[in-house]
Amino acid sequence: MLLFEGVYKTFSSGDKRVEALEDINMQVEQSEFAVIVGPSGCGKSTLLQIAAGLEHPTAGKAYLNDTEITGPGADRGMVFQAYTLFPWLNVADNVAFGPRQKKMPEQEVQERVNRYLEVTGLLKFAKLYPKALSGGMKQRVAIARALANDPEVLLMDEPFGALDAQTRVVMQELLLQIWETDHKTVLFITHDIDEAILLADTVHVMSRQPGSIKKTLSIPLARPRDHSLTLRPEFIGLKKEILELIWEESKAAAQEF
Ligand code: ADP
Ligand code: MG
Repeated sequence: MLLFEGVYKTFSSGDKRVEALEDINMQVEQSEFAVIVGPSGCGKSTLLQIAAGLEHPTAGKAYLNDTEITGPGADRGMVFQAYTLFPWLNVADNVAFGPRQKKMPEQEVQERVNRYLEVTGLLKFAKLYPKALSGGMKQRVAIARALANDPEVLLMDEPFGALDAQTRVVMQELLLQIWETDHKTVLFITHDIDEAILLADTVHVMSRQPGSIKKTLSIPLARPRDHSLTLRPEFIGLKKEILELIWEESKAAAQEF
């Protein structure tokens, strides 16, 4: 379980202070797919960086399975919007990187690599280098690489944000399929409300800066899911509820100008 307890984050440089997060209390249960949505600049990435151990709270604490998060670790797999593959390694070696770091026996490394190249549809591309891949393919590799480490939690920060709409749909369905077999604990960030509802067990809506959790909604839609769900009345009802929360935030922000 991933837990944030009274987390605040203030960035200061010189006499400039940015209050990014304010009193975040939330938890992601084992095998839960949790999604955070919120306006740009509300602190979503900062919160994920704290879970990753790459940023530290100004106050409060984050825990993974009752252990305080104090730095990065292989128990948390990360997938970001920007493509973060090693350009000097081919697809298979990018995926093998984590298990090799852990000194896993090479035969086991190969088994893992094959398994995750298969689930992400990359087997045919194992020998290609990142520069030969499209954006969608690179994100498949990034997902395979994160999963090959068998992390406790997958942390995903707008992983499909840079992809075109078609590719995005394909990647969302791929992630749904992987999750059906794997049931990883996931904390996923997006500002795309359809994406949030389609993927999530739970959606946490954040308020504008300084970000706090404005509302937590559970998404009781049956699985397995695919895009046909987005046309269903239950889906549209949830979308309306979330959009209204986000519009409240934008209106309040507009009045401050
Ligand atoms: P989001 O991901 O929701 O768009 P971020 O977490 O990236 O928001 O940023 C939240 C706020 O914190 C923004 O105002 C941003 O400018 C500020 N911020 C983020 N990282 C830093 C940093 N390293 N130094 C100073 N300010 C930062
Ligand atoms: Mg962000």
